[in-house]
Amino acid sequence: MIDLHTHSIFSDGELIPAELAQRAFAAGYKALAITDHVDHSNIDFILPRIIKVCSKITERGKILALPGVELTHVDPIDIPSLANDARKLGAKMVLVHGETLVEPVPPGTNLAAINAAVDILAHPGLITEEEVKLAAEKGVYLEITTRSGHAFSNGHVAQMARKFKANLILNNDAHAPADFVSSKMATNIACGAGLNDDEISVMFENSQKMVQKVSI
Ligand SMILES: [Zn+2]
Ligand SMILES: [Zn+2]
Repeated sequence: MIDLHTHSIFSDGELIPAELAQRAFAAGYKALAITDHVDHSNIDFILPRIIKVCSKITERGKILALPGVELTHVDPIDIPSLANDARKLGAKMVLVHGETLVEPVPPGTNLAAINAAVDILAHPGLITEEEVKLAAEKGVYLEITTRSGHAFSNGHVAQMARKFKANLILNNDAHAPADFVSSKMATNIACGAGLNDDEISVMFENSQKMVQKVSI
């Protein structure tokens, strides 16, 4: 199991990074990305600290920890430059907090994230056909989430990704220990989104591929 979307106390998660990683390890996870919510106020504060702790956790060898960010509720105009800043500061995983059904995320966020070629567009809500086509072209992964609320549109995301051959990735968006779901629950949630066994296998492999790509 891999979760490439998690939150620590550096944003609205419950745990410091060391415990977050230990809880993921205890739940059977091999890798996680710590992707706290960032905007212009905190990106340069958070990232060096997440990088430092991820490198120490990974060095100890139990679980691979990747430093990342989730650009959250920023104006879509600022997404390309902030994504660029995140990479320059050393983020290995750049996510954008997509247009979930349960929050007033600025319209245009999904498109800006895809155009900026971020790694993962998290909980993209009712993403449009044009956006999904573009995500497939640009290699931006669309998230299927186990997080309640954000998961309302999993079925739509799965269906659109199938239609336009976009890549899917399953994340927990873990904020607390109980959010690291079992592989059975992850599979059930993916089934509930309408994905078949082969599609679910491909989606799980995508997490591994992503880890390999950024670990080089
Ligand atoms: Zn989010
Ligand atoms: Zn999140």
